[in-house]
Amino acid sequence: MGNADDNPLICPECDYNLTGLSEDRCPECGTPFDREELQKIASGIVEPVIENWDDGKLMLGYARLWFRTVFTPGEFARRFPARHDEPAALSYSLASYALMGAVLVIGSIVITAAAAIGSGEVIGAGMAVAVGASGSCWVCETVIALLLRGLAKPTRARDRYHFWRGITHHGSGFVLLSALSLITGASAVMVEEVDVGFGGDLWVSFVVAAGASFAWWCTALIVMVVRRSVPGVRRVVGCGLIPLVGVGAVFLGFGFSFLLLSACTFGAF
Ligand SMILES: [Zn+2]
Repeated sequence: MGNADDNPLICPECDYNLTGLSEDRCPECGTPFDREELQKIASGIVEPVIENWDDGKLMLGYARLWFRTVFTPGEFARRFPARHDEPAALSYSLASYALMGAVLVIGSIVITAAAAIGSGEVIGAGMAVAVGASGSCWVCETVIALLLRGLAKPTRARDRYHFWRGITHHGSGFVLLSALSLITGASAVMVEEVDVGFGGDLWVSFVVAAGASFAWWCTALIVMVVRRSVPGVRRVVGCGLIPLVGVGAVFLGFGFSFLLLSACTFGAF
């Protein structure tokens, strides 16, 4: 140690300076604290989001992170480090976008093969949607992190934006669920085109799948925020803004995809 003056121990709840106290409880707000953990936070040590993320088995590491964020978001947030490895978080987010792109393009190829129609245009549409959706998700996650920086004070972390951007980077995995619902939507369009009679059912499936994946993402993110922030009205406002920003991002994504697709179509003719 020996650098207590450079890195004071700060109460994660109320920012009271706890350096030099003998009791492990904040005298200002009464919150008990773990001295070792606060020392880690104060010294700004970078920690992996989960152990063995960089053990060389990249796909396994991705899958483990994905399952944790999707199925146990509260536990994921509880264990999220005060200072995470930013390039690793960014890689996880970009890997999610890339996988979404792969699902959309492969899905487009399968649909066009099944419907026995010209594939070029549909695959182009799949790529345009992938790029449009990635861009809008990126904007959405950044905007949510910026809003949370102002509204929700994270517990056991000092740098608000760094912390919330780390959390939202890990929400990117949900784009895989969105990609699957988009494939259902694309199938509905194709089936309607060849008119085999069950296009209507596929549209219903699309709406249900898209709605469910969106609701799941919102809920998971809200659970993460609630698990790792100081209670209060501002936090409630922050959580309430998540679905609104999400809806905005959906429109932005469709708009962006449409523009890309139009630009490509006009370029081709
Ligand atoms: Zn305190």
